[in-house]
Amino acid sequence: MSAQTKRWPVAILGATGAVGQTFIRQLAGHPWFEIAELAASDRSAGRPYAEACRWLEGVLPPELASRIVVRCDPSEVKSPLVFSALDSGVAGDVEQAFARAGRFVLSNAKNHRMDADVPLVIPEVNAPHLALIDVQRRNRNWSGGIVTNANCAATVAAMAMAPLHEAFGISRAMVFTMQAVSGAGYPGVASLDILGNVIPFIDEEEPKVERELAKMLGTVAGGAVQAAALTVSAHTNRVPTEHGHLVCLSLGFERRVSPDEAMEAMCTWHGHEEARGLPSAPDLPLVVTREPDRPQTRRDVLAGGGMTVTAGRIRPDTLFDIKLVALGHNTIRGAAGGSILNAELLASRGLLPST
Ligand code: NAP
Repeated sequence: MSAQTKRWPVAILGATGAVGQTFIRQLAGHPWFEIAELAASDRSAGRPYAEACRWLEGVLPPELASRIVVRCDPSEVKSPLVFSALDSGVAGDVEQAFARAGRFVLSNAKNHRMDADVPLVIPEVNAPHLALIDVQRRNRNWSGGIVTNANCAATVAAMAMAPLHEAFGISRAMVFTMQAVSGAGYPGVASLDILGNVIPFIDEEEPKVERELAKMLGTVAGGAVQAAALTVSAHTNRVPTEHGHLVCLSLGFERRVSPDEAMEAMCTWHGHEEARGLPSAPDLPLVVTREPDRPQTRRDVLAGGGMTVTAGRIRPDTLFDIKLVALGHNTIRGAAGGSILNAELLASRGLLPST
């Protein structure tokens, strides 16, 4: 960031939910962004934040406890940068209203991810996709913008697959997920439905994983994303872990690829250079473990402060070429932390208005 000395005031829409609360934790002490406004539904608006939300983890920053929650309306929320942790039932229209009002919206919701002129970004994987912002502004005649991050399971898979796709070209992928309960928000899945249980269904999750991977691993040219030519089949499951989505991948390539070659490509991958050195970027976006029984959710989910994906068990596959396991934190890398990193990428490109 060049001559920027003041921090950008930011708003969190959906501040009371699981992802909204993660934004508050991840933004504590942030060098570039300062939480100025907290917004949520009409149920919460007008109440002090500590009363409006059920705080889930750690200590609620005292300076935010008494902050009055406002409505998710651009006439009430003034910050130029808006992090959206809104329920998808409302996110679509609300995020567009903010972009139309000239704000940059960093969205976690599914609504605009697959819009042709909306970037779906993990900075280490596809920073150049931000080029869609210019197209979006022209198409929609607005001065703001919407940048999305991916479905949380798709994010974990994409970070494990990116080095392999870059090196060898993935043609087929079988993606099998075990997703933590925090992925369903708060209060989320009823305890009697999930304790001692596995639910082999997450509404709309499988198509999201399949289509978002192809978009993220695609290339951008001429103001459009050419989706990667890979076929993805996803099975998604809810399991009784708190945080962390574990993803088992079986991958086929354009040519035969051995586990050793895959290991080499993954171990030497540091992600797109534009992401390096950003405040929320971990030292390594992807860590590969050689231990036979890792990654494990409880032991590895907080690698890199929750921003690193841990992969392991790279081995031959009888149907495809190789198979492996990857793990990432769903509300940090897969949601709030990923969104903040996207905002840092915008800032480093000089796309945010000066304060
Ligand atoms: P959540 O815990 O259910 O929180 C939803 C938030 O949306 C709350 O702050 C709620 O405010 C607000 N909201 C609901 N209806 C509203 C309305 N009509 N107007 C304004 N605000 C409204 O959900 P979450 O897990 O945090 O997820 C938030 C978004 O991130 C979703 O789109 C989800 O798909 C996506 N996402 C979640 C994860 C994850 O791991 N959880 C990962 C990636 C993406 P009130 O408290 O006032 O009702």
